[in-house]
Amino acid sequence: MSSVRENIHIVRETIAEAALKVGRRPSDVRLMGVTKTVDDERIMEAIAAGIDIVGENYIQEGKRKIEKMGSKTVEWHMIGHLQTNKAKYAVRLFDMIHSVDSMRLAQELDKRSRNADVKTDILIEVNVSGEETKSGIPGKQALDLIRDIATLDNLSIRGLMTMPPWFDNPDDARPYFVALREVRDRIIDENIPSILMKELSMGMSGDYAVAVEEGATIVRVGTAIFGARP
Ligand SMILES: *Cc1c(COP(=O)(O)O)cnc(C)c1O
Repeated sequence: MSSVRENIHIVRETIAEAALKVGRRPSDVRLMGVTKTVDDERIMEAIAAGIDIVGENYIQEGKRKIEKMGSKTVEWHMIGHLQTNKAKYAVRLFDMIHSVDSMRLAQELDKRSRNADVKTDILIEVNVSGEETKSGIPGKQALDLIRDIATLDNLSIRGLMTMPPWFDNPDDARPYFVALREVRDRIIDENIPSILMKELSMGMSGDYAVAVEEGATIVRVGTAIFGARP
């Protein structure tokens, strides 16, 4: 069986290859290790191998791991759907929240950030596929939501996140990555004060190379690093 370290090496090489293919710098893409259900030992192996962003989906599981492994050398990002009643834990625990898709959630995160005396970096999750079961704000409504959230003093919008439908052929995900990039470009054109549209969080184990070709700045990779989840 290949080790976590070897897998990370392979993923990094694939990222570099995809970036160079389209004239991007490999260093402009950050690799997140997605660690839901992954045991502590393998997470520490990944951190030792240079992973400096760890992504968790659940508050409870993330809290336990962050308290154990610390947040000095790595960033912890919340990538799962977040309920408003967990907002107060999220802002204390995580360096960035990728899954903000409503004003209601944003207002709660803003209030809880103010109480904790922090400014929280967030991404806006966009549902570019229009699938009804998916979380994320539809692309057409993203601009209005971002204008509203931009008025909240304790949140800092850094970019966009998406999760396309799952395909056997990663190339089928390409139109969704292109769509997210186009939403970003439209928002940049609006020159909204106090927001940054730097990050495009897109691409998972099956399709991160395609996502890098289309402009991803953070890829979220679990299975390709840690193996299949139970
Ligand atoms: C689980 C998860 C990932 C990683 O998925 P893999 O296919 O294991 O790489 C990425 N993003 C989100 C939001 C996830 O929930």
